[in-house]
Amino acid sequence: MKRKTITLTDPLYAYLLEVSSRESDVQRALREETQAMPNANMQIGPDQGQFMALLIKAIGARRCLEVGVFTGYSALTVAMALPPDGRLIACDINEDYTNIARSYWERAGVAKKIDLRIGPALATLKALEGPFDFAFIDADKSNYDGYYEACLRLLRSGGVIAIDNVLWGGDVADPAKTDADTSALRALNEKIHRDERVDLAMLPVGDGLTIVRKH
Ligand code: SAH
Ligand code: CA
Repeated sequence: MKRKTITLTDPLYAYLLEVSSRESDVQRALREETQAMPNANMQIGPDQGQFMALLIKAIGARRCLEVGVFTGYSALTVAMALPPDGRLIACDINEDYTNIARSYWERAGVAKKIDLRIGPALATLKALEGPFDFAFIDADKSNYDGYYEACLRLLRSGGVIAIDNVLWGGDVADPAKTDADTSALRALNEKIHRDERVDLAMLPVGDGLTIVRKH
């Protein structure tokens, strides 16, 4: 099919942010601190964060999950979108990254909304009870299928999961790429396409973001 999706050049992306980004001072400060780090590209973009915040408000989410916190930008953004009694359970294994995250959550006044669980996310999720309204999956790609199943179990009917990096820099569409992460993402993309438990949309936002809604 002829493509209908615009190519986001650098100047066009800059324009998009200029006319739509409402990133707060704390979000911007966290972005800047993280951008100086070696794994900076793991952080979601401000446009993706703003989209996720809108989605959370649109579905009236109160109980949320995050799998993969890093320095805390996505969790900060989710927590800011939640009502005062909203809660986010945020899972990661790395305390160096999440210590940075905590300091920014404090600065933004949302730390009390975030319950950080340090440990392998599959084990954390397994011990939880639902219902949750929203989940963001953004940790190690080889476990994505496990995270998807665990989050789907915990979600209420009508709840939403956002799954990050589903286009994986384009590698998922390149048959020559057969490494474990690419293969895991490709398999999950195909599975969700056929999955009758959910509605889906795959968006070319960031590195590819699939949104699913549980029936
Ligand atoms: N959502 C973050 C980026 C997450 S990067 C943001 O927007 O800034 C991926 C994170 O997954 C890393 O912080 C890494 O420590 C974490 N991770 C990797 N394997 C994990 C596991 N088995 N369980 C929990 N977290 C894991
Ligand atoms: Ca990501």
